[in-house]
Amino acid sequence: MDKHRILQQIFGYTAFRPGQEALIDGVLSGRDVFGIMPTGGGKSICYQVPALMLPGLTLVISPLISLMRDQVLALKAAGVPAAYINSTLTGPQIQTVYRNLLAGQYKIVYVAPERLDYAGFGNLVKRLNIAFIAVDEAHCISQWGQDFRPSYLRIVQFIEDLPQRPVVGAFTATATKQVRQDVERILKLKDPVRTLTGFDRPNLYFEVLQPEGKDQELLRLIARQKGKSGIVYCSTRKKVESVCEILNNHGYSATRYHAGLEEAERSANQEDFLYDRKTIMVATNAFGMGIDKSNVSFVIHYNMPKSIEAYYQEAGRAGRDGAEASCILLYSPGDVHTARYLIENGSENEEMDEAQREQVRRQDIKRLDAMIGYCKTQTCLRGYILEYFGQKHPEVCGNCGTCKGEFETVDITREAQMVLSCIRRIYGKLGYYVGGALVGNVLRGSKNKRVLSLGLDSLTTYGLMKDRSRSQIHAILDQLEADGYTQTDPEHQSISLSETAAQVLYQGKQVNMLVEKEPEEVLPVPQITKMTGEDADLFDVLKQLRMELAKEAGVPAYVVFSNATLTDMARKKPATLSQFKKVSGVGELKAAWYGEAFLNRIRAYLEENG
Ligand code: ADP
Ligand code: ZN
Repeated sequence: MDKHRILQQIFGYTAFRPGQEALIDGVLSGRDVFGIMPTGGGKSICYQVPALMLPGLTLVISPLISLMRDQVLALKAAGVPAAYINSTLTGPQIQTVYRNLLAGQYKIVYVAPERLDYAGFGNLVKRLNIAFIAVDEAHCISQWGQDFRPSYLRIVQFIEDLPQRPVVGAFTATATKQVRQDVERILKLKDPVRTLTGFDRPNLYFEVLQPEGKDQELLRLIARQKGKSGIVYCSTRKKVESVCEILNNHGYSATRYHAGLEEAERSANQEDFLYDRKTIMVATNAFGMGIDKSNVSFVIHYNMPKSIEAYYQEAGRAGRDGAEASCILLYSPGDVHTARYLIENGSENEEMDEAQREQVRRQDIKRLDAMIGYCKTQTCLRGYILEYFGQKHPEVCGNCGTCKGEFETVDITREAQMVLSCIRRIYGKLGYYVGGALVGNVLRGSKNKRVLSLGLDSLTTYGLMKDRSRSQIHAILDQLEADGYTQTDPEHQSISLSETAAQVLYQGKQVNMLVEKEPEEVLPVPQITKMTGEDADLFDVLKQLRMELAKEAGVPAYVVFSNATLTDMARKKPATLSQFKKVSGVGELKAAWYGEAFLNRIRAYLEENG
């Protein structure tokens, strides 16, 4: 079978997404590949399709245990012989997989990186014909990345010890330049085919709110979601407990997940969410690695996460099926302290030595600063994220809190020059940088004790902006920070000038700020569904059937069909099996298994409703 037929017949999709085809062709022609795609971009197809075409076995190395299980479930449901090996299997279960491997019964096997060190596994693989090794979450190999896993460093040796070097593919959603270079260098990819798919997820709506009371705001936001499935991320276990309780007390069906719970409860709660028995998951960042539930309609962050990478990954769990979804972050300045504390006292990775840890800590602080910038920026939120990942973007996206509001761009170059020059002069006088409050006081000509005792009232910038309010000056400071002209020392909160500040100070480079025209009472709500009323009714009927079938088979609902597939089905209303196969996400096997049930249900619905 060729790749298009496999895509169609096994996975039920009509066309490859951007980037997928180039990677698949690369692997099939014997080249190494390096695929960088955002979460939900469709990385798995890039190694699953070649796995089915190559003579021999494909090993997928992944650190994500629940992802392995889900993907193997989904592959088996599509008729592909697959298995996984990780610490959740018992000894006898592993032996069975080993036996089947030797008998050549699998096309794809997922393994956790730790497994590569087991002598038993090492000896076994030498007797297998491995055609392709796919390294998923490849950024774990880099110390610059957010999830550094020293066990990933051993993958190279493992590959070199094989009798014949298979094709190697690396896949990740993290694409800062440094990480990218590390992956290629450390994994020793040989002249790989590279694709960097756009990181944009146009169906996600982004917004940052800074509410007075987060609990009330959260309830308000969730009330608008009308029973849709979503995740609320909190930064601490305690917060998870209290938020989950509040939601339950208000009649929402919420469950919780954090590392302090017993393993049994954690997995029970996770299943409740995956199987749609509970609609809202309240969790710490321990939840979600490898969860590929496709019908998550919103992700709300009760606290600011530690990095843009973490935020985009967590928020990116919304709308994986391509449907409209919203990602909202509730920010408060206190979050900065919590995040900093978590970095300083974070889980000590036993695998790392002290120098590695120190390096990781330094990187973490840098990443935190970028995250704070996101919460404070007045520019397009999507643009901010894409910029962080080094991707070009239009100034306004039209689908984020900034772009939807009524803003106008104001030239603040003159004000910016005053502020920057004040910072420079204070430094000149004192020999050290100071915080934003003091800078503001000097500019406003305050008779504050500190200003006078330091003699700052003698500066030429003293009182230069006395007609401005404190908050106006702080907004300008925030803008300068977001534009990179200044940076705030994470420890002392002192603001220093970047090299680029000279462009504004001496070359008159323009600085712009978006200013709200009229403060809005009600914040815009994203449009959640674009189906017509009738299609939406049928969609609910199909969802019900999916639930029944999933229960019967003992798999999560999305393993039967994703929301996107049901949406397409509700639109197309197929009457025959061949029409049914034209629905996006319906492959041969699934058509054979579920076709009749869905066709009957659709027919009944249409008869009832004329
Ligand atoms: P990730 O890149 O995060 O690993 P996945 O591989 O899980 O993403 O894919 C995300 C979703 O997109 C899945 O539901 C998958 O089946 C779907 N998908 C992948 N490729 C295609 C395609 N060519 N057409 C339609 N849907 C696709
Ligand atoms: Zn925008």
